[in-house]
Amino acid sequence: MEKVFNGEQVIQEFEAMTRDAKRIQIKTLNKILKDNWEAEYLRKWGTFDGTMDPKTYSSCVPLVTHKDIEPYVQKIADGASFPVLTVGTPITAFALSSGTTQGKRKYLPYNDILTETAMHVFQASFAFRNREFPLENGGKALNFIYGGKHFTTKGGLLAATACTNIFHSKQFKKTMKAIQTPACSPDEVIFGPEFHQSLYCHLLCGLIFREEIQVVSSTFAHSIVHSFRTFETVWEELCSDIRTGVLSARITVPSVRTAMAKILKPDPELADEIHNKCLGLTNWYGLIPEIFPNTKYIYGIMTGSMAPYLEKLRHYAGGVPLQSGDYGASEGWIGVNVNPELPPEMTTFVVLPNIGYFEFIPLGQIHDPDSGSVLVEPESVVGLTDVKVGEEYEVVITSFAGLYRYRLGDVVKVTGFHNSTPKLQFICRRNVMLTVNVDKNTEKDLQLSVEAAAKLLTAEKLEVVDFTSHVDLVSEPGHYVIFWEVNGEVSNDLLKECCNCLDKSFVDAGYVTSRTSKAIGPLELRVLSRGTFQKILDHYVQQGSVVNQHKTPRCVSAANQSVLKILCSNVVKSCLSTAFD
Ligand code: AMP
Repeated sequence: MEKVFNGEQVIQEFEAMTRDAKRIQIKTLNKILKDNWEAEYLRKWGTFDGTMDPKTYSSCVPLVTHKDIEPYVQKIADGASFPVLTVGTPITAFALSSGTTQGKRKYLPYNDILTETAMHVFQASFAFRNREFPLENGGKALNFIYGGKHFTTKGGLLAATACTNIFHSKQFKKTMKAIQTPACSPDEVIFGPEFHQSLYCHLLCGLIFREEIQVVSSTFAHSIVHSFRTFETVWEELCSDIRTGVLSARITVPSVRTAMAKILKPDPELADEIHNKCLGLTNWYGLIPEIFPNTKYIYGIMTGSMAPYLEKLRHYAGGVPLQSGDYGASEGWIGVNVNPELPPEMTTFVVLPNIGYFEFIPLGQIHDPDSGSVLVEPESVVGLTDVKVGEEYEVVITSFAGLYRYRLGDVVKVTGFHNSTPKLQFICRRNVMLTVNVDKNTEKDLQLSVEAAAKLLTAEKLEVVDFTSHVDLVSEPGHYVIFWEVNGEVSNDLLKECCNCLDKSFVDAGYVTSRTSKAIGPLELRVLSRGTFQKILDHYVQQGSVVNQHKTPRCVSAANQSVLKILCSNVVKSCLSTAFD
């Protein structure tokens, strides 16, 4: 018999676990080492029989980045006949990261424990959410998720995004049902081979089941915003499909057509109702509650690089609460949002001490002048329960899926403790950095500058659809290039104002002095043609990424030539700052 979900019990277990974080972390580390000490990687570092306290562990096993473990990952991908990274739970697949930071997708070891952990996180976060915003039985979720592509490695292992691995698992559907958010779309739509068609059908299913939709969601907020921007362009076609009961000819995948034919029946009354509601909206404000009147909340990751989409999401949401999702990566899950009542800007993540062993590198460690990388003092690295409130750290993860002291590259701030485990606020990716010489601007700094400059557009009823940046070191002196896609025509004067505002809004002392002394050239603002970011999304999807995992790269390096080419070939206007003339 299927186990009934008991939210209060899940919360009680969560509380007990987080009260005992220190002991559980040691137990978790012991289990990981005991299960895997015979793997080639751990043997190399002399972890003996795996009985090791945290201090000895961190003195034996080095901190690593993905580059360091690539040869091991490659061996597994090629079909090594011996245990390379894990023994206890074999690596059965690879999770492909979205590849937004470096332009290159990372292969990360994946096994069944990561799926189990994901379910554990989904249930814990739902338990807290449901206590605040209870769902009614029998509802559905309009969940913009996509199966994405699979690859098979030389050794016969499947490689797909972490989301794809999860969506394909049996547990996923069961868990979604248990937590009252089964998707309104059939599997053929979720796993359809063409994401534009799947997105159209997700919207159509949402409309057909509009009264039953209680949650509108996706993994990342970008995908929700992207879906409703698409809705704005296809709503009449969707209404026509509902009116006639005939699916648009744009859907060409036979399995998707067959699945949709079972759901789509002629319903002129519903079509008229939706049509009238759409016509009655002003600039699509409050689209979600108007079309899906029983929506209790909108759910997805809204922090970090998703923050720039909040304004648009709020616009579509009208008064429907936004609930920011949890914190995880292809490498593994990290924390749960247990305060769903807070707005996304205040979301923090409570680290679960039993899903991995976590360490933290304090920020502000010395930069190696030769390589530009950060040198870490080994003794400065602290354990989960030893972090300090108010401090910023880089997250280091030791997982059940073969990562040992792996630097995740994310910067987080400790905002407090939940029982004895820290609450983390996501700050930014560590290596998304705009830098020409002594200046250092992070993803967050860029976001703040863009926010400040974009305010100037609102008087003209214009908005920045999406943005990214690049450091041009080819021209002398080097300078920042900011790319904007705007939803209308920007006059030259306004563009100049925005450009100067962007330049002035980077307040990092290194930047300001370098700009004043002309060691950094004038900031350049380039406006892109409409649809450029869609082309970038298509590019990533073509490479095997999935829309719901997509994160627009906020800084495109020279190494990411394919994206840089898309950007540079779609510039319609540009302007140089005179803010420091
Ligand atoms: P991927 O490996 O492609 O799934 O991307 C994982 C990365 O997404 C993490 O390392 C973070 O940088 C980012 N991320 C995941 N969850 C969150 C979150 N809740 N808030 C902000 N950023 C997140």
